[in-house]
Amino acid sequence: MTPEDENPDALSSNPKVVAYTDPLTGLGNRRRLMDKIRKLASERADDPAPFTIGIVNIDGFKPINDLFGHASGDEILCQVAHRLRACLPDGGFVARIESDEFAFVLPLVFEKKGAEKIGRMFKDVLSAPYDLGDRNVRLSASFGFAVYPFAGEQFAELLKSADTALYRSKRRGRGQITVYSEEIAEEIRRGTEIEQALRRAIIADEVAVHFQPIVDIADGTIQGFEALARWTDRELGFVSPGIFIPLAEERGFIDSLTETLLKKAAETAKHWPSDLFLSFNLSSAQLIDPATAFNVLAIVNRVGLDPRRLELEITETAMMSDPEIAAKVVNELHAIGIKVSLDDFGTGQSSLGRLRNFAFNKVKIDRSFISEITLDKSAEHIVRAILMMCEGLNLKVIAEGIETEEQAEKLSALGCKSGQGWLYGKAVEASKTFDLIEAQRSSQSVRSPIQVFSR
Ligand code: C2E
Ligand code: CA
Ligand code: CA
Repeated sequence: MTPEDENPDALSSNPKVVAYTDPLTGLGNRRRLMDKIRKLASERADDPAPFTIGIVNIDGFKPINDLFGHASGDEILCQVAHRLRACLPDGGFVARIESDEFAFVLPLVFEKKGAEKIGRMFKDVLSAPYDLGDRNVRLSASFGFAVYPFAGEQFAELLKSADTALYRSKRRGRGQITVYSEEIAEEIRRGTEIEQALRRAIIADEVAVHFQPIVDIADGTIQGFEALARWTDRELGFVSPGIFIPLAEERGFIDSLTETLLKKAAETAKHWPSDLFLSFNLSSAQLIDPATAFNVLAIVNRVGLDPRRLELEITETAMMSDPEIAAKVVNELHAIGIKVSLDDFGTGQSSLGRLRNFAFNKVKIDRSFISEITLDKSAEHIVRAILMMCEGLNLKVIAEGIETEEQAEKLSALGCKSGQGWLYGKAVEASKTFDLIEAQRSSQSVRSPIQVFSR
C-alpha cells in the first residue's frame, strides 16, 4: 500500500510521497517501512500484543537479470509486488527494501505458527509462473520472520532478526521459511562466544593442525596426509572444526585462520620425505576470492614447500556460490602446479559436467558411501560407478572414512587405490607424523602401519 492508497488526497508530486515510495513497484520503501514499524511498536508498547514482520527474498534473481535482461527483471519485481499486495492479510503492509527483497508488517500475526502459515501462502503465490510476454519464468522465494517484541523492540533490531532468519532460510536451500526463535538467539549468543574465543586463539597461536594419513589401500603405505584444524579452548573445551570453520567464514576472518593453518601444515610437510603430499582444505570463502591462488603460493613459497606437493581440497557446494570465480581459482592453482581434489564427492549438487570442465586431479568419495559399502548394494554400485568414471576422466580417487578391514577389501576389489580413515589412523599432531613415517620406512612389512596408528 502506498501513501496514496491510504490518503487519496496525497499527490504523487508531493516530495514526501516520493521519498517514501519505491519508484519501480509503487510500493512503500525502507523509510516507509521504518515509519510503519515504529508507529506500530509505539502503539503496542503499552499493550503487550505482539506483531510480526517478515522479509522475502527471491531465490536466484541475479541470473534472471543476467539471462533475460533488466527489463524482464523489473517486470518480475512488479509482478511480485502486485501479488504480495493482493494477498496481504488484513491491516498488512508491504514495502520493497532492496532490489529483490520485500518486507512486510503483519499486525494481526502474533506467533510462529501464524507467521509460517502466511509464509507458506506467500510462497505458493510467488511460485506461480511469471509472464514475460514471450516466455514464462518460475521462481522460488525465501522467508525470514521476526515477532515483536521478542525479536526486537526497535525497528533496526527487529529487521535484523528477520534478516537473520532469512539468512538461515537461504542456508537451508531455496523456498525455506524461518521464524526468529529462542534457539536461533541462543545459537547466535553461542556463536559470538566462540567467535571471540577463536579470534583470541588465532592471535595467541593456539589453533593447531593435525594430520590424517592417506594410504595405499593395497599395502597401507602412507602417500600423504590431510591437514585438519584442531582447537581446544580453555573454557569452551574441544570445538569441532565442523563448527569453528564455518563460523570463521560467516564472520569474515577465515583468511587469517587459513593463513596460520596452511603455514603450520606446510612447515611440517616440508620435512616429510619429498614423495609425500600435503592435502589442505580450502574454505568456500576462498573460492570466491580471486586472490586465493596468489596468496596460497606466497605462503608455500615463504615456507619453502614445493607447490607440487600441495593438494587443495574443495567441495562442490563451495564452488556453487560463484562457479566462474571458482573455475578461475582452480585453473590458476593448476597452472602453478598445485593439485586440486574434489572433497565429499557425491554429497553436493553433483554436476558431472563440472568434473570435465574443472581442472581437478582427484576425487574424494564421501564417507557416507564408504560406511554403507559392505551393507548396502546401492552404495557399492555408486562407488563402482564413480571409480569407473574417474578412471575414464583420468582422475585419481581417495575413499574417505574407511573404518573396517571389510570396507578396505571391498574398495580394493572395486579397484580403489587410495584411502583414508580410522582403520589407518586418526589425525595426529605434527611430531607424530614423523614417527609414523619412520616406523613404516624402517619396517617394510605389509600392513605394519596399522599397528602404529591408533584405531
Ligand atoms: P572433511 O574435509 O571431510 O574431513 C574429514 C573429516 O572426517 C574429519 O573430521 C576427520 O577427522 C573425519 N574422519 C576421517 N576418517 C574418519 C573415519 O574413519 N570415520 C569417521 N567417522 N570420521 C572420519 P574433522 O577433523 O572433524 O573435520 C570436519 C570438517 O571440518 C572437515 O571435513 C572439513 O570440512 C573441515 N575442516 C577441518 N579442518 C579444516 C581446515 O583446516 N580448513 C578448512 N577450510 N576446513 C577444515
Ligand atoms: Ca577434506
Ligand atoms: Ca571429506
